[in-house]
Amino acid sequence: MQEPSNSFARLKLPSSLTENLASLGFRAMTPVQEQALPVIVQGKDVIVRAKTGSGKTVAFGLGLLAGLDVRVYRVQALIVCPTRELADQVAAELRRLARRIHNLKVLTLCGGNPLGPQIGSLEHGAHIVVGTPGRLLKHLRKNTLQTDAVRTLVLDEADRMLDMGFEEDLADIIKKIPQDRQTMLFSATYPDSIEAMSAGIQRSPVSIDVTGDEAPNAVVEHFFEVAPARTRTSDDAWSENSKPDRLVALDAFLKHFRPATSLVFCNTKIDCHELAAALTQRGFCALALHGDLEQREREDVLIRFANGSVSILIATDVAARGLDIKDLAAVFNFELPTQRQIYIHRIGRTARAGSTGLAVSFFNTKQAHRLPQSAENSAEPPLTLVEFNEALLRPPIAPTMVSLCINGGRKNKLRPGDILGALTAGGSIRADDVGKINVGDHQAYVAISNGKAAIALELLSGRMKGRIFKVRALDPGSSPAPARSRVNSSNRK
Ligand code: ADP
Ligand code: MG
Repeated sequence: MQEPSNSFARLKLPSSLTENLASLGFRAMTPVQEQALPVIVQGKDVIVRAKTGSGKTVAFGLGLLAGLDVRVYRVQALIVCPTRELADQVAAELRRLARRIHNLKVLTLCGGNPLGPQIGSLEHGAHIVVGTPGRLLKHLRKNTLQTDAVRTLVLDEADRMLDMGFEEDLADIIKKIPQDRQTMLFSATYPDSIEAMSAGIQRSPVSIDVTGDEAPNAVVEHFFEVAPARTRTSDDAWSENSKPDRLVALDAFLKHFRPATSLVFCNTKIDCHELAAALTQRGFCALALHGDLEQREREDVLIRFANGSVSILIATDVAARGLDIKDLAAVFNFELPTQRQIYIHRIGRTARAGSTGLAVSFFNTKQAHRLPQSAENSAEPPLTLVEFNEALLRPPIAPTMVSLCINGGRKNKLRPGDILGALTAGGSIRADDVGKINVGDHQAYVAISNGKAAIALELLSGRMKGRIFKVRALDPGSSPAPARSRVNSSNRK
């Protein structure tokens, strides 16, 4: 029987990979995988352009895993990513894909972590290294990362790495990789700089572009006019003839559509912080992500949003860079961005993997010229104030999970299994009630169903790995403030 063109079986991958795909619930290839994987599996160089969330990691991941020899304990594949979060996500996805390949070692090398332990891990050996440019280069210069066995090089989110100024670092890294290799370049956009880079580092690459294949109406866009200035004294009453305040409008949209997860974009970090406080006060569960957060605080916010214990994330474009949160139900432009590209990039974070997403943008009369074309030929009839009749609005959606934070991590030999074990051993908590577990070096997070948080807190406060850890439930409304001193007036607009 002939395989359908989007069946993974078509690729003739080792069974250790294909059987696992089924268990991960990957039934068919996504369009980018359907086009890129057959080429990648043949070992050819590729430039792949596809939007975020289209399944690019699995495309290069399966390709490089298929070509890897686990018996050879040397670095055979190197993946360069723009941010540490992205590197962590890629490493996690590779580990999932390689679950049935025994003894495969995936190592992340990112800035912000001490060098010593990374050097130690490198000495133990790894098959795949995922890292950020600066740190990879550091290891290459110190000779702690050996690349002579590297056969596959992946530049993930290449456009963003160029945007972030990594061009030289990348060139220096690539110089140290053997020329006899497969080079794969992944990007959401395709500026000239990518083409130039490709010419220098790839051999007759096959170009794959699936950006045109996307269903154009996967995101439902709404544009809503608000009062010209932030009327901080405004009361919440909706009146037919005046435009509402932005905050009041956001509140109403959230209660009208009740998206399970929302990303709200503001243009400044102060706005992010103020909006988070205002929404929290109104009973929403919101956290701000902005450039002033320390790496630890940033991780804290991201983990809590990703594990479902916080439903609204408020961010600037800069802070949201490299963020890959899955299944966002809605994106809000609290302020319209000044560039069309940024608008597209923002709303592209919703409606992933075929589901419908919601994009709501607020603007005032003065900003009407910034509206994207889609506002004019939008099939959506404009929503009117009448639709936000108080009586029709329902209370804010509450997250179904609560995050517990444990003051121990990898450095204390604490592993996800220890936490899961402590929670479920007595039978009062089922594995279904336990959400994501994130174990960091010095602390760990676990998401627990709302109703089970108290008992989970008690269970985790007992002995784990022979010692007692401090455990606390995280209050959804506590986002760290931006440092005022670092916010200058030009930032304020
Ligand atoms: P990109 O790198 O293009 O932004 P990712 O590789 O991060 O996208 O994939 C987005 C999500 O889709 C991930 O959660 C991934 O596990 C999932 N995914 C990828 N391929 C498939 C597939 N063939 N079937 C189902 N889910 C998939
Ligand atoms: Mg990706």
